[in-house]
Amino acid sequence: MINFQYVRASSPKAAIDAIAKDPGAQFVAGGTNLIDLMKKGVVNPQKLIDINSLPLKNLEKQSNGLRIGALALNSAVSEHELVLQHQPLLSLALKAGASAQLRNMATVGGNMLQRTRCPYFYNTDMPCNKRQPGSGCGALKGYNRMHAIFGASENCIAVHPSDMCIALAALDAVVMVSGPKGDRRIPFADFHRLPGDQPQKDNNLQKGELITGVHIPDNKFQKHYHYLKVRDRISYAFALVSVAAALELEGNTTKDARLAMGGVAHKPWRLREAEQFLKGKAANEANFKQAAQVAMKDAKGYGHNNFKLRLAPVTIVETLQLAANKS
Ligand code: SF4
Repeated sequence: MINFQYVRASSPKAAIDAIAKDPGAQFVAGGTNLIDLMKKGVVNPQKLIDINSLPLKNLEKQSNGLRIGALALNSAVSEHELVLQHQPLLSLALKAGASAQLRNMATVGGNMLQRTRCPYFYNTDMPCNKRQPGSGCGALKGYNRMHAIFGASENCIAVHPSDMCIALAALDAVVMVSGPKGDRRIPFADFHRLPGDQPQKDNNLQKGELITGVHIPDNKFQKHYHYLKVRDRISYAFALVSVAAALELEGNTTKDARLAMGGVAHKPWRLREAEQFLKGKAANEANFKQAAQVAMKDAKGYGHNNFKLRLAPVTIVETLQLAANKS
């Protein structure tokens, strides 16, 4: 039996005030990850502050981009006509995530905050620096098939599980938050963290901050884009490797490119050097292969996940081909 208090917040300010007063409290929205974590004893919040009734579900076109409220459901966002028209890469990534039932419950803000699916993190009998700092990392010398090949540390080699966030990273989204010290905007690249020596921290939110929405700036990636997720089964499985690719082509020349990977790092892994390599070059297989080599130069396997060192570059090339050839 897990005892916890439950309260419903009536406004963003009330939610922020309530969490600021109570170090053992957590926000809950769809609960698709948090409730699992509570059932398994991985987290034990003393109070849940339900934010579902806050006015944060809106999705609107603004003069410089698309604004999506933090409580918009993943399923609604993936089918929304403004998303399909202006940011179709985001729609594809959302549809690759979880199952239809989960997408009907999961919110945009919650998707950003979901925890790693490292099995050692979920097994309270095993050491895990993310769950219990200083206890060790069961995966480092354990069964690490799903784990990171970029940006890991000796303290944690877990990967970030979201598909949506890989597209948002590629699209240079900005996360909007409100907190006890006011509002601020966090570039998506700075929102999630690498594990370093504090793997217990997944992101750079400050205590008491509430995600209110995400802004995606306008771009020219409506024609050539793709999200390719390689996984053990076709639905309801996390990525072994995924790639979000968006290209702006002039004839056959790449004018602009965005690339990000999932299933390979503790945060969405943006491939900026590969993007730079592609700019101004012909959009063809030879250049895509070279871009993949550039992207992979700092990759490192940990044993069971060594196959990702071969899988990742071919997935990059395939995704770029699919994006370039989309008509
Ligand atoms: Fe825990 Fe990270 Fe190690 Fe997994 S990889 S056991 S989450 S410290």
